[in-house]
Parts: sequence; structure tokens; C-alpha cells
Amino acid sequence: MWVASNSDLRYNFPMILQVRMFPDPVLRQVCEPVTVFDAAFLKTVNDMFETMHYFKGVGLAASQVGILKQFLVLEYEGRRLILTNPVITASFGSTVEEEGCLSLPNVRVPVTRAHKVEVSAVSKVGKPFKLKEKGFIARIIQHEIDHLHGRLITDHTPLP
Ligand code: ZN
Repeated sequence: MWVASNSDLRYNFPMILQVRMFPDPVLRQVCEPVTVFDAAFLKTVNDMFETMHYFKGVGLAASQVGILKQFLVLEYEGRRLILTNPVITASFGSTVEEEGCLSLPNVRVPVTRAHKVEVSAVSKVGKPFKLKEKGFIARIIQHEIDHLHGRLITDHTPLP
């Protein structure tokens, strides 16, 4: 016989987190940098992937699940990225496409974004790296980094 302890359950099974919906004030908060890369942080990253998949999103920022820390997950066309403390260091070109957001159900708005971005970030274990992305992945990165600064897609477009 084997009985899972509370800590086994907490660390082994990803959970679906509650996604905060507009106008929840947490979505307007500016997130703080991540400084502790411990087991609880890795567990939260896994839970965010689980949550993003469950709601059929392609990106999820920590503030969307009520965690005011600078990290985000995304998965698109087989690419799976975790960006912690991300900073856009350069951007090139501009494109307009419609975007949606898990925190704004049934809202789709055209948003102007850079076509290509260079980003500095750290990995889920705290190792610094740089990234160059273009096209839709660059768009997702910009959308999720906006969340970390309390910005939403509707801020990019005049509301009627
Ligand atoms: Zn969003």
C-alpha cells in the first residue's frame, strides 16, 4: 500500500490554476523579478503550462494566475518557452494582428507589435540567456511581457 503525502501531491501532479479575469485588479499590477528558483517555483511553472493547455492558450503570464512575479510560459508550433525576468532589448519592424487573451474572454482586438524582438531573460533555474524571435512567437512574447507590466491588449486600441 502507498499513500501520497501532501507534499508528494503538491510536487508531483500539475494543477490547473485559476485564471484571473478582467477587471481583476491583479491584472494591472507590475510584477517583481523572480529571485528564488526553488522547487516551488518549478512546480508553479509546470502548473502554468497545465493551465495554459487546459484553457487552450498559447501563452500565460504569472500575473494572470495571481502571482506578481516576472515569468511567463508559452507554447506555439512545438516551441515551448519559459521566460523569467524577461526584458526586450531590441525590436524591429511592426505588424498588426488580432489577439485574444485568456483574461479577456470573447475579446479580440487588432494589436500593433514589433515583428522581431531580442529578449534577455533567465531560465527556470536562473541561468541568463538571450533569445531572438520573429513572427507570431515574438507577438506572444510581447503580449505576455505586457502582462508582467500590468498592460492588456485593450490598452493598445481605443475603446468605443
Ligand atoms: Zn493575455
